[in-house]
Amino acid sequence: MQIGCPKEIKPQEFRVGLTPDAAAEAVARGHGVLVQAGAGEGSGFTDEDYRAAGARIAPDAAAVFADAEMIVKVKEPQAPERAMLRRGQLLFTYLHLAPDPDQTRELLASGVTAIAYETVTDARGGLPLLAPMSEVAGRLAPQVGSWALQKPNGGRGVLLGGVPGVRPANVVIIGGGVVGTAAARVAVGMGANVTVLDRSVPRLSYLDDVFMGKLTTQYASGAAVADLLPLADMVIGAVLVPGAAAPKLVRRDQLAAMRPGAVLVDVAIDQGGCFETSRPTTHQDPIYEVDGVVHYCVANMPGAVARTSTQALGNATLPFMLTLADKGWRRATGEDAHLRAGLSTHEGLLTSPPVGQALGLES
Ligand code: NAD
Repeated sequence: MQIGCPKEIKPQEFRVGLTPDAAAEAVARGHGVLVQAGAGEGSGFTDEDYRAAGARIAPDAAAVFADAEMIVKVKEPQAPERAMLRRGQLLFTYLHLAPDPDQTRELLASGVTAIAYETVTDARGGLPLLAPMSEVAGRLAPQVGSWALQKPNGGRGVLLGGVPGVRPANVVIIGGGVVGTAAARVAVGMGANVTVLDRSVPRLSYLDDVFMGKLTTQYASGAAVADLLPLADMVIGAVLVPGAAAPKLVRRDQLAAMRPGAVLVDVAIDQGGCFETSRPTTHQDPIYEVDGVVHYCVANMPGAVARTSTQALGNATLPFMLTLADKGWRRATGEDAHLRAGLSTHEGLLTSPPVGQALGLES
């Protein structure tokens, strides 16, 4: 199969859909790989790296879209990319169609067969192509939060790990899933005093087991959150209710009870945010202040560490991409219900019931 990888064109997107290592694996199995010139630059991969892996370099996106039977990307196709998709072509990327009627309409009109990373499932009921980005965002959260806690950035001037004789910072993590666990790992590693809240008791038991006393777990009642806020230096929002907007767990009036210069890191901002005062920010202008509390609400946190994110995403997508290339989408999704769960559009038909439900379209 001819596999094509264009350069991402969404603003501030530095990741790339295919690493040179993944290209080499596809080539070794007899597939052709065509990568747009400069596609890997933002993640630190040169055209030469791809050539050495056996890929061909295309001068522009048009050449990739014209030649490839499968397009592998990171972000949902932007309008100029959608115009180049066609019937008989396979698209494998993040799509997030439910809140995006324009994209859905144009993918249907193009006739492309589209498989969305974010809805591919695994045997444990997880989302294996979403998890690596949650790992990245979770590990990043205490890092960016500790930067925001520094005085010149508007924070209360507290060092996360303290020093001998001075108490460490109190970090409260709401939601102990993939993001929350990754955040806890880094915050504990930096020496903070960490409390993780969740509504799932089995999840709290798991955290209690793996961290062996290095953090405190607490059931995420409204009262528990309210009790912890006045003592928190940093609160990380990491909740997810599948298929729904994030619940608002800290109200605006509760900020008054917090320490001036405390920091809220709302990782759940891509689902609307779990603090009432959250609004999406960008890597250029990541923080703002409300009632003396610093907010960090970047919706695409993994983009800040594009190289790590590209490699982590590539590790997760590689086996699925190779299966699709080896067997073709029809056999691959026929044999694998988890891959089939990602099938979103095919020759003008919407094949994802949740997207149909969200947009009021027939599926
Ligand atoms: P996950 O499903 O692994 O974990 C979510 C956890 O939240 C679960 O353990 C669940 O029990 C818990 N939860 C649900 N409702 C709760 C409540 N009211 N109080 C306390 N806990 C509650 O999800 P995840 O992969 O960790 O993702 C968390 C959030 O981070 C999602 O909104 C995801 O979209 C977002 N995310 C954002 C970025 C970014 O760049 N901003 C990157 C990756 C993920």
